[in-house]
Amino acid sequence: MTQTAIVLGAGVGGMVAANELRKRTAKTDRIILVDRNPIHLFAPSLLWLAVGTRTATEIQRPVHALLRRGIEFVQGNVDSIDPTNRTVTVGEQRFAADAIVIALGAELAPEAIPGLVEAGHNFYTLEGAQSLRDALKEFTGGKVIVLTAAPLYKCPAAPYEAAMLIEDSLRKRGIRGRATIEMYAAEPAPMAVAGPAVSDAIKAMLASKGIAYSSNRQVASVDPVAHVITFADGASAAYDVLAYVPPHRAPSIVANSGLGGETGWIPVSRSTLETTHKDVYAIGDIVTIPLSMGKPLPKAGVFADAEATVVARNIADAWRSQSALSAFDGHGACFVESGDGKAAMGSGNFFAEPSPQINLKAPSVLWHMAKVVFEKRWLKWWAF
Ligand SMILES: Cc1cc2nc3c(=O)[nH]c(=O)nc-3n(C[C@H](O)[C@H](O)[C@H](O)COP(=O)(O)OP(=O)(O)OC[C@H]3O[C@@H](n4cnc5c(N)ncnc54)[C@H](O)[C@@H]3O)c2cc1C
Repeated sequence: MTQTAIVLGAGVGGMVAANELRKRTAKTDRIILVDRNPIHLFAPSLLWLAVGTRTATEIQRPVHALLRRGIEFVQGNVDSIDPTNRTVTVGEQRFAADAIVIALGAELAPEAIPGLVEAGHNFYTLEGAQSLRDALKEFTGGKVIVLTAAPLYKCPAAPYEAAMLIEDSLRKRGIRGRATIEMYAAEPAPMAVAGPAVSDAIKAMLASKGIAYSSNRQVASVDPVAHVITFADGASAAYDVLAYVPPHRAPSIVANSGLGGETGWIPVSRSTLETTHKDVYAIGDIVTIPLSMGKPLPKAGVFADAEATVVARNIADAWRSQSALSAFDGHGACFVESGDGKAAMGSGNFFAEPSPQINLKAPSVLWHMAKVVFEKRWLKWWAF
């Protein structure tokens, strides 16, 4: 019997899920992948693009170039998901499936903070990373601020990496002495889910580079004309260049499909990624997986990738009438670019009890090179 799986979103999770499903299922089974964007972007490289060491072409590929033969790619907007009847509408088209994998990511909402869009550079998008690169090129001295506008955002390392890479680039241009770099974070500490030892290590890295760090700072508004950030406690900070991580929110389709939980994100079984509906799975940034230490599993590509593999294997096994035995175990690793051609490396078990057991290896050229190799490999079809 022919079976059909539909994968929604061709970002990290969707790309891995669709390719893994194609690899493991019969040729007669249909694997459909939907995304409104026909281009796949390797987001970690936005940080390198912002400091001028990558171009947009180098960090993107057409979706079809990364797909195994036999995957049907549909370019369009996913407008609705009916998890009870397992149907999806994309514009005028309606798809019925035996399994649905939802990998639509997180939405960025910079407009939630008055003035933020006009005031600075959202380096979590290609356009924002490019405008930050251009602003840094023009910058000859003054103050650069890196800001996280809300505590929950994907890749908890990225803004810290951005601050250290900006510092490195100004030093290489010989203008570091004329520049102040400050970081204002909405969260209580860097990469806090990874534990206090990791947070302290990142703070020490920032301090060693002369980057001032202030945490628990909730931005209230930004004045794009006066170039001043105002925080909820009334304090303010002036800047010349503002690089920011915007607030994130769950896509509205989550609430509209009835799949959202209390947090707005999709609750799932943490080992199988199945939602409250049978054969409907959600992976990556769109899900929430609570940890017993009180914070959710961070949103990161490394988890989207591992979750996608588990889901695809279990769907394929079920279709072959085999027991579905793959389980997501909460292990993950993350490079932390620190400038000077080096990166630190954090890895461990985020499902460890009572709190995640994460080890951060000191910055070295080796970890930076490993990240470069990972990037090159990710953008080749044979990586999937
Ligand atoms: C600057 C930066 C650096 C990062 N660095 C790292 C890192 O070093 N390590 C790491 O692990 N993670 C990193 N991340 C995080 C990582 O990129 C995300 O966690 C990961 O992409 C999540 O995968 P996903 O499949 O859930 O969502 P995404 O990769 O965001 O994919 C979602 C897809 O869904 C599509 N989509 C959304 N809504 C619709 C709709 N209604 N209809 C059709 N298509 C839709 C989008 O176009 C997109 O292609 C970084 C992120 C950024 C921004």
